[in-house]
Amino acid sequence: MTTRELFLKHVGQTSMAPLAFEVTKAQGCYLYDANGKKHIDLIGGISVCNLGHGNERIKTAIKKQVDDYLHVMVYGETIQSPQVQYATAIADILPATLNSIYFTNSGSEATEGAMKLAKRYTGKSKIISFKNSYHGSTQGALSVMGSEYWQQAYRPLLPNVYQYDYASSEALDAIDEHTACIILEPMQSEAGINEAPQAWFQQLRKKCDETGCLLIFDEIQTGFGRSGSLFAFEKIGVVPDIILLGKALGGGMPMGAFVADKEMMDCFSYKPVLGHITTFGGHPVCCVAGRESLAIIQEMFKANPQFVEEKRALFLQELNHDCIEKVNAYGLILAIHFKDYDTNKKIIDQCIKNGLFTDWFLFAANALRIAPPLTITHNEIKEACAIIIQSINEVMHESS
Ligand code: PMP
Repeated sequence: MTTRELFLKHVGQTSMAPLAFEVTKAQGCYLYDANGKKHIDLIGGISVCNLGHGNERIKTAIKKQVDDYLHVMVYGETIQSPQVQYATAIADILPATLNSIYFTNSGSEATEGAMKLAKRYTGKSKIISFKNSYHGSTQGALSVMGSEYWQQAYRPLLPNVYQYDYASSEALDAIDEHTACIILEPMQSEAGINEAPQAWFQQLRKKCDETGCLLIFDEIQTGFGRSGSLFAFEKIGVVPDIILLGKALGGGMPMGAFVADKEMMDCFSYKPVLGHITTFGGHPVCCVAGRESLAIIQEMFKANPQFVEEKRALFLQELNHDCIEKVNAYGLILAIHFKDYDTNKKIIDQCIKNGLFTDWFLFAANALRIAPPLTITHNEIKEACAIIIQSINEVMHESS
């Protein structure tokens, strides 16, 4: 049997039509398929590989840690310097109230932990989230996901969860003394890039302060430079009570985290003790990879604070075609909107044929996703955009 056939037979499937791209090597901004063909990677593992593939400094850090030790004990009982150092590095770059980092294995688990912490700390259970939001696929995270389509098959989910339109005044009105937390992305990526006005965020912060509702920002996708700042909340100018991290947090290794004030986090230590448990969270190899990756991203911003914005502008300049309805862009996440899903799917498939790897968005199936490594060069951006335009032309030619 071919590797492809074995993949379809033995690797649990979640799609009727998986991309089934066989990766044999990944380097810099490129993926190599089974025939050795080079493809420009425009999605970086969906906002994970912010430094591209095969970064030497990250690999060296991982190799050293592999020699020192791998997993030694469940989370929280032993002092492991990779964990301590990475938690300290994260606390150093966040505001003073975000100083206690709980490492998990994934973004979904960070969402779970944060929701539990909010309920435990406030003693309340009402949770508010938003339509077209994505916070993960486990049942708690699914309960706050903003889509009946993905939720329906798994009901009953968590009770006492209420959903509103993003950036709506109804959501602000719904926050009251019974609300444990409100969870949202500072920009809704999976909706094909949906932003909220800064003034709305300020009103949100104010309402949370008035009622004691905890404000949770999910920066799993926007974090670590993707937004054009290290974190999107810096652009917005509003500090959340809890921040969720994931994806690029691990420098290519699996990792998530939720971050809060120590006084809040400490309530996981009593009544009941071990309020949130993970065996592998904060794995030492993931911590060293993440810490090295963060250091490099910080150096990139120090060298040129505008580098993400400059690359975004270049994409926007190059992406011109009559078929493109609009391009939404937030830092280095861009969504090229076409008239419908069929057109988008054909263009994505054609891009892959032409040596460019990309995907769509959960709630915007008509939009092509661009979330390349932040290290993508200006020449690579021009090359990628030329392939997209060529692919659009070929699809249009075929269907005319
Ligand atoms: N929140 C957001 C905003 C995400 O984009 C994702 C992953 N796409 C998650 C949460 C869940 O992360 P994970 O897949 O690591 O569980």
